[in-house]
Amino acid sequence: MRFPLALTVKIARHIVKHKLKGTPRFAMVLQLEPLHTCNLTCTGCGRIREYSTSLKDMVPLEQCLAAAAECDAPMVSICGGEPLIYPKIEELVAGLRAQGRIIYICTNGVFMRKKMREYMAAHWSPALEPKLNRLVAEGLVSEKEAEQIRKADETARRKVTIPPSKWHYWNVHVDGLEFTHDLIVEREGVFKECVAAIRMAKILGYQCATNTTVYRETDTQEIETMFQFLSALDVDGHTISPGYDYDAAKKDMVKRLGKDPKDFYLTREMTREKFADIEKWASAFTIFGTPAYQEFLAGKRELTCTAWAIPTYNVRGWKAPCYLMTDGHYPTYAEMLGKVNWEKYGVVDGVARDPRCENCMVHCGYDPSGALSTKPRDTWLNFKFNFGPRPAPVAFSPELEKQAFNGFTIGKGHLAEAKAAVNRELGGAKSAFARGGNGLAEEAHEHAGGGCGSGDSTQRDELLAKLRDGKKIEVKAE
Ligand code: SF4
Ligand code: SF4
Repeated sequence: MRFPLALTVKIARHIVKHKLKGTPRFAMVLQLEPLHTCNLTCTGCGRIREYSTSLKDMVPLEQCLAAAAECDAPMVSICGGEPLIYPKIEELVAGLRAQGRIIYICTNGVFMRKKMREYMAAHWSPALEPKLNRLVAEGLVSEKEAEQIRKADETARRKVTIPPSKWHYWNVHVDGLEFTHDLIVEREGVFKECVAAIRMAKILGYQCATNTTVYRETDTQEIETMFQFLSALDVDGHTISPGYDYDAAKKDMVKRLGKDPKDFYLTREMTREKFADIEKWASAFTIFGTPAYQEFLAGKRELTCTAWAIPTYNVRGWKAPCYLMTDGHYPTYAEMLGKVNWEKYGVVDGVARDPRCENCMVHCGYDPSGALSTKPRDTWLNFKFNFGPRPAPVAFSPELEKQAFNGFTIGKGHLAEAKAAVNRELGGAKSAFARGGNGLAEEAHEHAGGGCGSGDSTQRDELLAKLRDGKKIEVKAE
């Protein structure tokens, strides 16, 4: 099976319960953002800009748990910001598990190994020794860290930690192979750290998924190689979604720069081109996402936006209408459901009800549409997809590893050259790498909102437009 049976049954029960009750709108996945603080400043990140005035604010633990209980979504995706910075992340995971929810911890991967060492220290027993020895042998835990785990004191032993569980996934943000990913997150070594964290997680028995956003400049061959590499690491599944920009940002680009938005943004048509092979990918790799959503991305059918099924809760409340766009925040999910005019949003029969929705095909708007479909064909396809065999993992090979690590990771590598190239081309404009960029992104986001890693900004597009050139920069051997 692609997805563990217990989890599939839980989600199916939830849908059937609401269909039988005739509930018109209900939550499938809660996007819970306990904070927007992050240790990275990815190019074009929507969250650290839209919520730049409340980066220090956090949703109290009890309020996070109450939000999950109120919307009653069977799945909770803990995102942010970087959720592993949230001081009560372990208690939050434990509390959501006590509520019986499936949990995705969406992380940039940088603090994962620390959290897993804490788990090992809290649960240390000689039975863990073979795993610890393997982690040391593979360079995933240092000798010093191993000793600290073995000699954990009472405080470390009493700490609430995140143990391996079939009910939760680490969901690691990976937007490409080393060169591309490190450029996007603007820090060398992050891809390498993500890979180390995934390998450690798999040795310890955690479930591990990845999430990837595809942009106009994303090389689909690279995405395929990335899936092969992640499959060879035994990653349990992948979410993949198109990034796109909004009407407000496009108008801003025309007005300020006199540039054609089509040169930068992923339009509906371009998304369909990029995702032409999604069904092929889904048969070869463990892609999460319904067959109906895959057909939608490949341009084979239309779907109606069901953004209410993946609501977002954060420091300002329930964000409407969706994870990406902000027209308001509400104190309760029920109030948001009741007060938002959902008929105003989405694209129906090729016509955007709201111009900002025109090019949106993101999973948080359309994937639930496939899961909630009652058409017999969709029900059969969903059944076949979920209960069919899991694609066989790709065999690990040194050649694949070489392809994955296609940049530098020691602080004097590809970023320095790429930054220089980008700055040269931008002329008088501020660096695309500078925090805050050239100001366009912030202005656009004041109108349009944004998403963690969604790349919905001029700043990110300028960077991505340079990736092709960046790859031509001569990379010296380490
Ligand atoms: S179509 Fe996209 S942008 Fe528009 S409401 Fe739905 S999810 Fe949000
Ligand atoms: S995209 Fe995610 S990881 Fe990157 S800065 Fe934003 S919140 Fe942090």
